[in-house]
Amino acid sequence: MALAHNLGFPRIGRDRELKKAVEAYWKGELDETGLRAVGRELRAAHWQLQKDAGIELLPVGDFAWYDQVLSHSLMFGVIPERFHQHGGKPSLDTLFGMARGVSKNTCCGGAHAQPLLAQELTKWFDTNYHYLVPEFTADQQFALSWEQLFEEVEEGKALGHALKPVLIGPLTYLWLGKCKGREFDKLDLLERLLPVYGEILQRLAAQGIEWVQIDEPILALDLPQDWKNAFERAYNLLQKEPGRKLIATYFAGLEDNLGLAAGLPVDGLHIDLVRAPEQFPAILDRLPAYKVLSLGVVNGRNVWRTDLEKALDLLQQAHERLGSRLWVAPSCSLLHSPVDLAREDKLDAELKSWLAFAVQKCREVAVLAQALREPQAAEVQAALAESRQVQASRAQSPRIHKPAVQARLAAITAADSQRQSPFAERIAKQRALLNLPPFPTTTIGSFPQTSAIRLARQSFKAGKLTAAEYTEAMHAEIRHAVTVQEQLGLDVLVHGEAERNDMVEYFAEQLDGYAFTRFGWVQSYGSRCVKPAVIYGDLSRPQAMTVAWIEYAQRCTDKLMKGMLTGPVTMLMWSFPRDDISREQQARQLALAIRDEVVDLEAAGIRIIQIDEAAFREGLPLRKAQWQGYLDWATEAFRLCASGVRDETQIHTHMCYSEFNDVIESIAAMDADVITIETSRSDMELLDAFERFDYPNEIGPGVYDIHSPRVPDSSEMVRLLKKAAQRVPAERLWVNPDCGLKTRGWAETEAALVNMVAAARQLRAELA
Ligand code: GLN
Ligand code: ZN
Repeated sequence: MALAHNLGFPRIGRDRELKKAVEAYWKGELDETGLRAVGRELRAAHWQLQKDAGIELLPVGDFAWYDQVLSHSLMFGVIPERFHQHGGKPSLDTLFGMARGVSKNTCCGGAHAQPLLAQELTKWFDTNYHYLVPEFTADQQFALSWEQLFEEVEEGKALGHALKPVLIGPLTYLWLGKCKGREFDKLDLLERLLPVYGEILQRLAAQGIEWVQIDEPILALDLPQDWKNAFERAYNLLQKEPGRKLIATYFAGLEDNLGLAAGLPVDGLHIDLVRAPEQFPAILDRLPAYKVLSLGVVNGRNVWRTDLEKALDLLQQAHERLGSRLWVAPSCSLLHSPVDLAREDKLDAELKSWLAFAVQKCREVAVLAQALREPQAAEVQAALAESRQVQASRAQSPRIHKPAVQARLAAITAADSQRQSPFAERIAKQRALLNLPPFPTTTIGSFPQTSAIRLARQSFKAGKLTAAEYTEAMHAEIRHAVTVQEQLGLDVLVHGEAERNDMVEYFAEQLDGYAFTRFGWVQSYGSRCVKPAVIYGDLSRPQAMTVAWIEYAQRCTDKLMKGMLTGPVTMLMWSFPRDDISREQQARQLALAIRDEVVDLEAAGIRIIQIDEAAFREGLPLRKAQWQGYLDWATEAFRLCASGVRDETQIHTHMCYSEFNDVIESIAAMDADVITIETSRSDMELLDAFERFDYPNEIGPGVYDIHSPRVPDSSEMVRLLKKAAQRVPAERLWVNPDCGLKTRGWAETEAALVNMVAAARQLRAELA
């Protein structure tokens, strides 16, 4: 009998209860007993929701106070020395200390002379979830040091649940960590780590656990040969430990690792058929006859209802071969889905009928499993009929399919994503017109978002400020930002983005084809959640989105005012996309909508327009073989949105990360006249890419790190700029911070920009 199981449930709670409790604990408003009670209630509620939905084997260990990778570091005793408690066991404060750092005035373990640096945070595969990077030393020891998993198993058992503990596998755990101190091969740690897994498996077996899920998502990556070999070694050893083991893979296809994964000496394998449907039916031929196959057919990464008939068709084929060895699951942990659609009381009924959040996805999994056992059951028939109706309504709905958008898309020609002239000609015209000094200075867009600004936005949304009052409040912010910039002597000014809550949501709210949820929160890191907008239909721009603000700002000054937009790829990456057309097509629709805004800004007299592509690199597929396909359409989308203007109009773009050595050709192919990027934290090392590749256009390598309140002096920035000038001809260099300044205060912002302008002036004097 096919079994319905789940790989993981969102831990934050449908009202973000975990966020609220954890933050209250940090502030000292909730004690540890209170916090633990909230955790217990959430786990109990989530198990019950899954069980009620029909999930037969419930995940345990998917709950985490901050991050599941961090929980594993504590469990394995991978606690950097700076967080060792004097003689004591790690505590909840050790955990939060590792996550957030410890400064003198936080509560963890008394007064420290030196603040303790938090562990590094980085993206979990290609999701927007961030995990805490384990820190390994060459002499790393591992020891079972954290009881949370076993306690939660007891808790679930007491509630009468059938449980399946979820562990991050040893290879994936090592892969995700980084070496501290002298370099060494992380694989050298494997032999030392495995006994801890053995101990955990024995403890779980003693608790009466039958199945354990071991997540090894790196099996869906391009793995070096020694890592592939290590998989066999590791699981040959773990084979001897008690308990039945299901290896879970997700986010991409197994491809060249399919044989390896299928052959590991464990009892089951989970694969993601949403991301990589082509793995089916090949997997059926490679799977040993004793093994369970879990098929992830319900998308754990998006908000759309599953086409149950399509999924069932595939499951039936597998069922014929596997019978009760077939399990049904979401594609990956539901950590990446919002919690419960039932909370959405403001979505209209039709749109709501197209969606499924974690609770609803569990129901879909259960119905599919039931459909294999009892195809004629009334509930099954009703669910299939409803699914059919949803698919039909989405396929035909005039809210989704807009002939005008499609006609425009169909009429795109190659010339549309081509500026009128090559860069060399454009830049000559732009220089003549803009008349900027060498090493022109600018900022990335936003200025400090003060509490007054946030209050004004909220009051306006709540109807407490009239449109006129709100406009005047924002105009006052713009005037202030302009005055400060003029006094600082910056060359290219910005309006400061006071009217924007978020660089994607601000535009999404003004586009047709986007919907917004009230409670569709997804954990990003720790207590931080994001609520991505949902692209549900063909996208278009009913009217100008930024022109009035930028025009007003330009009227406030004789200097050049830069228009500020978010690019199509970033809009797409930070939204829930449609699943009925490709990401590429959605990026094109977004590009056309933004292109209209670019053209309108130009018509309003704006001569410099920046199109931010903060998430450009994030979109890279996990497998290298798929990179070029992505880069081609992403680059094309950017060019499509940037190419509607005359040669004289200068297009800037901004990307806030430094690793782009491996994609520099595509960044050049975007053909922005100027790109501003993060480089200060890497001490301009990123510009080493320019040794290998001659980046042709202008570039503003960030000269100071806006992520820190520290105000660098101008000699530091001069040094960085001189370093940059060794790689990039001086006449192509701009001077700017690393990123937008919205998280900083005005005092430090002004102090840093005074120094930045001084640095630019010094360079002009020395190198002119
Ligand atoms: N223009 C945006 C800002 O300054 C860019 C933000 C970003 O790159 N993340 O805030
Ligand atoms: Zn940035």
